[in-house]
Amino acid sequence: MTAFSLTFLGTGTSHGIPVIGCACSVCTSSDERDTRMRSSVLVEDEQHAIVIDTGPEFRLQALKHRITRLDAVFYTHDHADHINGIDDLRSFSEQSPLRVYGSKRVVETIRVRFPYALDADVVAGGRPHLLLTVMKPYETVTMGTMKVTALPILHGRDEIFSYRIGSLGYVTDCSEVPQKSVEYLRGLDTLVVDALRRFPHPTHFSLFEALGLINHVGPKQAYLTHLCHDLAHQKLEEELPPHVHVAYDGLVIPIGGGNE
Ligand SMILES: [Zn+2]
Ligand SMILES: [Zn+2]
Ligand SMILES: [Zn+2]
Repeated sequence: MTAFSLTFLGTGTSHGIPVIGCACSVCTSSDERDTRMRSSVLVEDEQHAIVIDTGPEFRLQALKHRITRLDAVFYTHDHADHINGIDDLRSFSEQSPLRVYGSKRVVETIRVRFPYALDADVVAGGRPHLLLTVMKPYETVTMGTMKVTALPILHGRDEIFSYRIGSLGYVTDCSEVPQKSVEYLRGLDTLVVDALRRFPHPTHFSLFEALGLINHVGPKQAYLTHLCHDLAHQKLEEELPPHVHVAYDGLVIPIGGGNE
């Protein structure tokens, strides 16, 4: 039984693809799956819609996917490629403040960088109206049928959040998963995981580290995201095991009930 759906709004690393000024074979590819906006996902059940992260192209992503309502935004971390679309949340907070969740650090960053978004005076236009809530590690927030649990992971030296929503795991900008969080990622229907490029990187999983996590926690299916222009979609898809796929912008998949 399908519990909810997952839409990949963006699947690219911080530069996006194409990279400005780059003429490599991926940046000039005619395969539209090689065009990647900054990473973000929309998760919906019949009555609720949430997004994880709002990168610089959030407005374009919302228009492309005709997002007309949002019940909450969950942030993984405060890097520009995950947070800088925040002003366009004003369209979703005209009637009442929009609920926004993240770690203590994310909430503090939003307070400092976007103080005008915290004014409870909804009459004043031109800016978002956000109701910020700090999530503690392993805390769960319930949105309709969706239970969203914050799972700490490492992004280089920074501890950031990945999320488990029912039988979906969304693990981006990840260089290491602590053992406790690994336990929360077992029994998934779908695991989405950071796979920046083939070669190691200090703050992101390489392709082989991503495959290692997939093998270790054993989801029914897995999707790779946050790719850079080293990885061509079709070529990579052809070399992956049958239950692992490359995500692409606009891909929509149903999330089933998990294998527990
Ligand atoms: Zn990122
Ligand atoms: Zn390129
Ligand atoms: Zn990051």
